[in-house]
Amino acid sequence: MYRQLASDNRFAVERFNLDLKDSPARSLEANRPLSSFPLAAVSLAFEEDVRSLAHIPLEMGAPTLRSERPDFPLILAGGPLAFLNPALMAPFVDLIWVGEADPTLSDLLADLHTHILAGGTKAAFLKKVAARPGVYAPGLSPLPVRRKRSGRSPHLSEPAWSCFISSKAEFKDTFLVEINRGCPYGCRFCAAGFVYRPPRRAHMSDLKALVEQADPPKVGLVGTALTDWPDLLPFLTWLHGRKTKFTLSSVRADGLTEELVAFLRLAGVRSVTLALEAPSERLRRAANKNLDTQAFLSAVTRCARHGVNHLKIYCITGWPGETDADYAELADFLDRIDAARAEGFGKKKVDMLITLSMSCLVPKPFTPMQWSPMASEEALEARLKQVREMVRPHRAFRFASDGPGAARLQGLLARGGEDLAPLVVSALDLGWKKALKAWPRDASADLDRERAKDEVFPWEVIDCGVSRAVLWREWGRYKKELETEPCPAAGCGECGRCGVEAQIGSTPS
Ligand code: SF4
Repeated sequence: MYRQLASDNRFAVERFNLDLKDSPARSLEANRPLSSFPLAAVSLAFEEDVRSLAHIPLEMGAPTLRSERPDFPLILAGGPLAFLNPALMAPFVDLIWVGEADPTLSDLLADLHTHILAGGTKAAFLKKVAARPGVYAPGLSPLPVRRKRSGRSPHLSEPAWSCFISSKAEFKDTFLVEINRGCPYGCRFCAAGFVYRPPRRAHMSDLKALVEQADPPKVGLVGTALTDWPDLLPFLTWLHGRKTKFTLSSVRADGLTEELVAFLRLAGVRSVTLALEAPSERLRRAANKNLDTQAFLSAVTRCARHGVNHLKIYCITGWPGETDADYAELADFLDRIDAARAEGFGKKKVDMLITLSMSCLVPKPFTPMQWSPMASEEALEARLKQVREMVRPHRAFRFASDGPGAARLQGLLARGGEDLAPLVVSALDLGWKKALKAWPRDASADLDRERAKDEVFPWEVIDCGVSRAVLWREWGRYKKELETEPCPAAGCGECGRCGVEAQIGSTPS
């Protein structure tokens, strides 16, 4: 978004790092306050960031609530949260961009530019653009607003890449590039597998051109199913050949081939992350993880044999319908992982640390879990304690976990509606923890209940492309522990199963 707008000489675009404790924020470029701009645009990825969003109008000298801000400034929000649940942010923003940024976003802002110079009001502008594709003006747009999508399956024509590389960034000094968008597997808990459909993959030549242009010290490959990308090994080999370091996000165990692990070690990669996701085969089947247990153990052996120093394993707790038997199976599986690790070493005196990283399941909108109850804080605490104890006897294992309190907050926000605005406003001063304590409503009443089939959800002001009937059917298949086949490897438009393919022809590439 920054790139699109900053390269257009009609706009003066400056960047702000928002720090709620250090206000007012000043721009990096010209040290100007945010209040000197008529427009603030922000991209949101995480539910908790809505607190920062609510702070932006205050930085601009305006009330935080849209209803109390009849004229400029205009606040525009986008990013994954905007097409996961725009209702959460709607009380604070004037416009929401629903979906992937494309050139029509620049057109929208060029019209805003003309409108402001002509002395037009904010209300008149919002009325004028409310029905445009991809635009959600709360209270004005015809509903539902269809998610914007770029490119045709199976190719990702405009992969995302880092605009800025910084030693202060979360991924330090790393140039992030997007390998694939969407995911063919449709794990039932994963929002990225539904709201980014259809699955698309980047062309290696495009990524090479981006890396050559940026010439970064390190490249971070971002994607949902990295090992499904047929060019993964050729691309990594190319990076290694030009002496560019790289990192990978978590990989599927069945894609971690002998050749790939050997190459990763040759290139100096010390740490590998595998996603186990659920504690038992039964729950992995319910989650539609499509994971072969033996393939997972073979991947552990392979990592140990090739001298990987640190293996991280991701797992989730708090599954609807989970039982003690699922965790007894996990205890047994940890023994098998330990044995697979030892098998990899053979007689060699090497070591491989294994971190089992547990997180708490947060049911997300536009996934089959949108109807699901969330596990209570006590239940999550108890499971985490149980797994920590399970890990303890294994010398080479470490345990890490998320806090259940933070997960429950995210759960509340994730499926919350505009009625959560008072909680967000209160969190501006108090922080989330104290605001939740002072909140007169009982969060558990919302979090702990299973939703009815026909309940209308706050996020259904948008149409993510996957049909509600398909999501409901998948929730039913979760309960019956039935897997659903992944999307065909050749790309979307071939199976017609989820309803998203109908948009392909209508979205120009
Ligand atoms: S229509 Fe079929 S191939 Fe396309 S995203 Fe949906 S399930 Fe996958």
